Amino acid sequence: MRIIDRTRKCIQPTDRLRVIEDITTIIFHRIMVAPDAVGVAQWFAERPHLLGTPSMPYTFIITKMGIVEQALPLKVRAPHAWTWNSRAIGVGVIGDFRVTGPSPQQYAACAGLAVRLQDQLHRPLHIAGHTHLEKATKQTDKVCPGDKFIIDAVRESVGTEGRIIIS
Ligand SMILES: [Zn+2]
Repeated sequence: MRIIDRTRKCIQPTDRLRVIEDITTIIFHRIMVAPDAVGVAQWFAERPHLLGTPSMPYTFIITKMGIVEQALPLKVRAPHAWTWNSRAIGVGVIGDFRVTGPSPQQYAACAGLAVRLQDQLHRPLHIAGHTHLEKATKQTDKVCPGDKFIIDAVRESVGTEGRIIIS
């Protein structure tokens, strides 16, 4: 699976760093403000009041076509899931999964990225949807990525590729 490097266009001077060894989890999000990583990063950079920073919230973006773009280096602590920001890699999947599910290409990209990250970090990672986790948002009514995004489908694909998977 190919990952397109967009980090140069998505990094902000406000970005904070984290320790790679602290990463335990991959969190999937829905996002629909732009079609790709650079567009999403620009959208948040222009609206710093939303997250209290102009930083890009997602380390990766998966486009509608299932293209995987890396927006930030793993060592950047991106503001995507409140108390989870140090330990979780945020993946913004383009779409609104309260309404329709991810495309087959997007599911395949989610699983492929998870496998790649586990290989890169040499350990199994938890796979979760944003608002399925405790203290992952301050907005009590938020639903992310949405009921049409079947997280178990991603977990199963990662599992069938022979990796240990914990959930
Ligand atoms: Zn989210």
